[in-house]
Amino acid sequence: MVRNEPMQRPSNLRSFLGNPRAVDTLVRAIERNRLPHAMIFAGPAGVGKRTLAHLLAQLLNCLAPSETDACATCMSCHKVLSGVHPDVRELGPEGAFIKIEQIRALIAEVAFQPFEGEYRVAILDGADQMRQETANSLLKTLEEPPSRTFLILVTTNPYALLATIRSRCRMLQFGGIPHDQIEHYLVEREGINPREARIAALLSNGSLSAAVSFDAGRFQEVRGQALRFVRLLFERGGFFQISPMASALAKEKENFQLWLDLVAILLQDAYFAHVSPARMAQIDIAQELQALAGSLPISTIVSAIEAVQKLRRSLVYNLNRQIALEALYLSFVGTRGRISDCGLRIAD
Ligand SMILES: [Zn+2]
Repeated sequence: MVRNEPMQRPSNLRSFLGNPRAVDTLVRAIERNRLPHAMIFAGPAGVGKRTLAHLLAQLLNCLAPSETDACATCMSCHKVLSGVHPDVRELGPEGAFIKIEQIRALIAEVAFQPFEGEYRVAILDGADQMRQETANSLLKTLEEPPSRTFLILVTTNPYALLATIRSRCRMLQFGGIPHDQIEHYLVEREGINPREARIAALLSNGSLSAAVSFDAGRFQEVRGQALRFVRLLFERGGFFQISPMASALAKEKENFQLWLDLVAILLQDAYFAHVSPARMAQIDIAQELQALAGSLPISTIVSAIEAVQKLRRSLVYNLNRQIALEALYLSFVGTRGRISDCGLRIAD
């Protein structure tokens, strides 16, 4: 099932998940009255950059803040949390880009004092998606922002911003959220069952939004394919079986990354089945994996893990996916010193 409900947003900084250093930096800057007026929130997708920008706007305008956090209950907090505060403005690409008209309207708006809050906060989501002319039109405002205005540029790709934009902003770098925190969040806050939560967290690459929108149906299907591949690898199935599988997988562009992640997780589980079964992630097929792994020496599993890591590295260079998969199989079977059935002798 794909979950369609929007995920619950944190109501203040205390309930913000992950990136404690980023939160800390902002809170300390506010305490010292040194919060930069132009900032870049940079980092991977789905880790809360935009959310934290809104929470910061909330704290800046809260009518009854504690030392380090917004109250989450005053009229101002309510307005920010429900997205209707007139001084907290977010804009993002309309179509492929943020348009120059959007930036001009924003510049005109920030020339005035805030409507009702203490501060005006403008959040530019997808800030790297600006043409040069548009970005240039923002430079002067970034250089000398009005005193009660904060501008936050949110981006997954800060180096796609003009150097002149970057040099006018303070950059705050975000990282992925640890898997155990995501897993805990999914169980406690989203009510997802623990087994699914563990898998979703492992596959999320540290992105909370990816974990929350985890698609269990697609996962089952792709994991089935990954398990068949791992079996063939360990049972040293013939090249004639691997080749069509590699060809079919290589065509599934959308699922290929998930498939590869799952192959890596299955192999890791096969390793854990030997050394520490409690750490296995695929709890529902643990017995099957233990049976498969139990018949193999641990060195074989380690070589398979290494071969998959090598495959992942080679795919960074856009190597043909089918060839890369076949090479993985051949190199792995090769390490076992066997002759493949396509007539090639693979060097040890
Ligand atoms: Zn408040």
